[in-house]
Amino acid sequence: MTGQDGARPPGRLPPRVRIAPSPTGDPHVGTAYIALFNYVFARKHGGTFILRIEDTDQERYTAGSEAAIFEALRWLGLHWDEGPDVGGPHGPYRQSERLPLYRQEIQKLVEKGEAYPCFCTKERLDALRRDQIAAKQSTLGYDGHCRSLSPAEAAARMAAGEAHVIRLRVPDDGETVFVDHLRGELRFENRLIDDQVLFKSDGFPTYHLANVVDDHHMGITHVIRGEEWITSTPKHVLLYKAFGWEAPEFFHLGLLRNADKSKLSKRKNPVSVFHYRDLGYLPETLLNFMANLGYSMGDDRERFTVGEMIAHFEWSRVSAGGPVFDQTKLEAFNGADIRGMSPDKLYDRLIARELSRERMVPLLAQAQERVNRLDDFIPYLAFFFGGSLDYGPVLDKLKVKDRTPAEVATTLEAFAQDIERDPAAREFTAPAIEAFARGFCQANGWKNKDLFMLLRVAVTGRTASPSLFETMALCGKDRCRLRIRDVVALLRAQPS
Ligand code: GLU
Repeated sequence: MTGQDGARPPGRLPPRVRIAPSPTGDPHVGTAYIALFNYVFARKHGGTFILRIEDTDQERYTAGSEAAIFEALRWLGLHWDEGPDVGGPHGPYRQSERLPLYRQEIQKLVEKGEAYPCFCTKERLDALRRDQIAAKQSTLGYDGHCRSLSPAEAAARMAAGEAHVIRLRVPDDGETVFVDHLRGELRFENRLIDDQVLFKSDGFPTYHLANVVDDHHMGITHVIRGEEWITSTPKHVLLYKAFGWEAPEFFHLGLLRNADKSKLSKRKNPVSVFHYRDLGYLPETLLNFMANLGYSMGDDRERFTVGEMIAHFEWSRVSAGGPVFDQTKLEAFNGADIRGMSPDKLYDRLIARELSRERMVPLLAQAQERVNRLDDFIPYLAFFFGGSLDYGPVLDKLKVKDRTPAEVATTLEAFAQDIERDPAAREFTAPAIEAFARGFCQANGWKNKDLFMLLRVAVTGRTASPSLFETMALCGKDRCRLRIRDVVALLRAQPS
């Protein structure tokens, strides 16, 4: 453990730290949480905070999500010193633009015998796995089939164009040990570590290789990341050794959790930074709330700014326990901050965000067809603002003929989940939502009319509204998701 009381932190200073999100969906509060600690540590010691985009997993990549990461971190004020958009001396900062480097580095490992080509087919690996499961083997993994191919045979097969991956040659025995500065020394038995794939047959590196190569070439001194990467770290340590490079210092922060202590997930909790932005939480409040999840000022003081956290920061005050993302507390913090503002300041904040021209003009365009007086606008537009709605007056409209409430709930839940996975609809424009909703009805044997009414009631709390899909787009994905989830819970609570 560091255990230093304000003493010098471990590792080289000034630090060079990074966050390395993968652009696979909406910007997650977990990413913001990790970013905050990296940012604070860098600022405390006059270091550099880097943003690197880990986009080598082509299957999981979603367009637009890189820009969303930038937007979310900027909204929070966590500005980075080097990154894909701002440049820097160690670029490019997008892994997909660094492929020649990974090829060159993997080549070195193969030449040194630290890594080896593996020609096993998917069929063989699947069969191996099945056998291992059937034999109740405690650890599943590669059996080293291609480990002992002679370099000449391996080279000949590669030259002949045979499909292959490159694996790390993990030592058969011994241990891999590293210090996690929040948890102490961690030891892993090498025989339990799989011969990790470093390079895939599609010509892309895996997370492990690219992450280590980049951290080395970008001069990263401290890796501050989430607990979910702890089991990757011994593989990384082995890789640093194989390359002959010095490993950075490691810190694994606790995983954010739902109230029931499970890993924070969007089924139980809103996890997108945009949810909190769009529902009117203040960025400085969200940061202070997140800081409290892992940091203690030591005197029961919960309310502090990022500047104060930087001035105070010591690793010995960081806790690695899995903190609960407690919505009620965030709400209380936000309320207190709203009350702490002068009405004048509040007005400026409202105009800047909730009532900006950019936000209001499209809403007015919807309302003007339907109201007669200027003072009708605000009440008419009410459902475009705020979070949860009162469904008391429209409860009956959540019933669908010949379907149980449980069935309706399951369908709404599936709708919310599937739209997230649809590359076009997840952008949440009106035409894309409409196309998705029609396809969803067809695929699930629902009448458009029935589903559309349900969505309208869920999203607006009313049975009549401007064009449904326009309305959904203008309410925003996070507000719609929240309300659909509320309705699902309401229906589940009803007797079937
Ligand atoms: N690409 C990983 C992620 O999505 C990076 C993990 C790390 O920081 O090493 O979080």
